[in-house]
Amino acid sequence: MDTEVRETENVVIVGSGPAGYTAALYTSRADLDPLVIEGFAWGGLLQQTTDVENYPGYPEGVMGPQMMQDLRDQAARFGTRFITDDATKIDLADEAGGLHTVTVGGKEIKARAVILAMGAEPKKLGVPGEDELAARGVSYCATCDAAFFRDHETIVVGGGDTAMEDATFLAKFAGKVSIVHRRDEFRASAIMLDRAKAMDNIDLVTPYVVQSFEPGENGSLGKAVLENTEDGSTKELPVTGAFVAIGHKPNSHLVADQLPVDDEGYLLVEGRSTKTKLPGVFAAGDLTDRIYRQAVTAAGTGCMAALDAEAFLRDTPIDPEAHWTPDPSRVEEAGQAVADSAAVAAEPTAR
Ligand SMILES: Cc1cc2nc3c(=O)[nH]c(=O)nc-3n(C[C@H](O)[C@H](O)[C@H](O)COP(=O)(O)OP(=O)(O)OC[C@H]3O[C@@H](n4cnc5c(N)ncnc54)[C@H](O)[C@@H]3O)c2cc1C
Repeated sequence: MDTEVRETENVVIVGSGPAGYTAALYTSRADLDPLVIEGFAWGGLLQQTTDVENYPGYPEGVMGPQMMQDLRDQAARFGTRFITDDATKIDLADEAGGLHTVTVGGKEIKARAVILAMGAEPKKLGVPGEDELAARGVSYCATCDAAFFRDHETIVVGGGDTAMEDATFLAKFAGKVSIVHRRDEFRASAIMLDRAKAMDNIDLVTPYVVQSFEPGENGSLGKAVLENTEDGSTKELPVTGAFVAIGHKPNSHLVADQLPVDDEGYLLVEGRSTKTKLPGVFAAGDLTDRIYRQAVTAAGTGCMAALDAEAFLRDTPIDPEAHWTPDPSRVEEAGQAVADSAAVAAEPTAR
């Protein structure tokens, strides 16, 4: 591990999607010298997509991987340090001022504050063609991608409220939307199902599952092969868009036995803050958000987590003289004595 790790970090951020990098940007600009454990798959879910057209500040749109590089570079500009590996263990202290321990690459990193931003993975069908055609017709986010499918023939896979919501939204753009579901009965609430059924261009295709996705001549999605779950017969639907809406799995397993989670595993935070029930532990992004799950909302809560962490560190000093632990190298760079820096750092910091 080449990244320099301090004996005690002010703040360790776990996860590197829009939430983690935004938290890093704010905490680095607040001179907290954050360390981001960005995961092996750094950059998060937007690394898996092509055009992002709904993130403010990119009038022409931006490719997902480019946007994540931009967010990372912006955090790096203010001194954020990164470890590109997964945290394998997180031990959270339960008393105010206690040190939290994040283990990565076999090394235990101590931190006064931790921001959890590990995201939530969309569940996959696990059928042939799904991975190969992801971002080439197969999508996991109707809010993000529906507008790319104007007048296309599409399917939505799933039977819950999210599938109905996705189908109803998609139907505003697509020529046709077939909702493919394994049973004739739906888990979705009656009102959501009725709303979907009322759309002229939505069909229910039951009881079917997707057996495979296959490319068309241009290499993008060309058809979905469906299997009847009762008689095993198959049929092909020519489609250029397929939205998989069978739920998400929050990456909360490292902390789910230490912090409250909801019935799907999303971390619970206090009110409109990013505070968890443990002092100095904050959570942001899709890890806490079963409703919106957008890059801009993740970035927004990443900002909130940084401000919450900064306030926590200000109000919970290790040393009553210190606002937070000063980094000696920074102090030297500034040509100041380490001793003086504690007093300087005790002043409120401008954001
Ligand atoms: C295909 C697709 C297209 C999308 N398109 C759009 C779009 O156009 N516009 C939009 O607004 N939203 C879009 N979204 C949704 C958007 O990607 C998410 O809302 C957003 O990325 C959530 O950000 P996040 O920071 O909470 O988590 P994520 O982006 O999921 O990032 C989480 C990060 O945490 C890391 N991590 C997880 N566990 C660990 C661990 N143990 N240790 C270290 N790191 C860990 C992961 O590697 C990952 O880097 C899309 C989603 C998908 C799947």
